[in-house]
Amino acid sequence: MICPKCECEYVNGVKVCSDCGIDLIPVDEFEGNLSHPKDWVIVYTGNDLIETEMLKANLEGAEIDSIIISQKDRNLIYLGEVSPVKLLVKKKDAEEALSIINDINSTKIDDEE
Ligand SMILES: [Zn+2]
Repeated sequence: MICPKCECEYVNGVKVCSDCGIDLIPVDEFEGNLSHPKDWVIVYTGNDLIETEMLKANLEGAEIDSIIISQKDRNLIYLGEVSPVKLLVKKKDAEEALSIINDINSTKIDDEE
């Protein structure tokens, strides 16, 4: 669950944002309800939620806020959506986030060699 106002993510079971006092919405409905949608950009898309969560954890380690939007359970996937998992960061962090993601991906290739 996520707060549509301050964009803080909460664990399941929490229904109201403790900071704003407004109702939380499911994360997968969040994309269309971003309070500042232009501030967010997609830096990664993929099919693997575990891998995307790993990237998110790395970004958090670099103090970059990120959101994962998964369309796995939604109808879009049956309509030919090939990248159901998206990782979003704020625009100001996009460049740094991309370089971190690229570093992770190139390290992965090195490990396989
Ligand atoms: Zn809030």
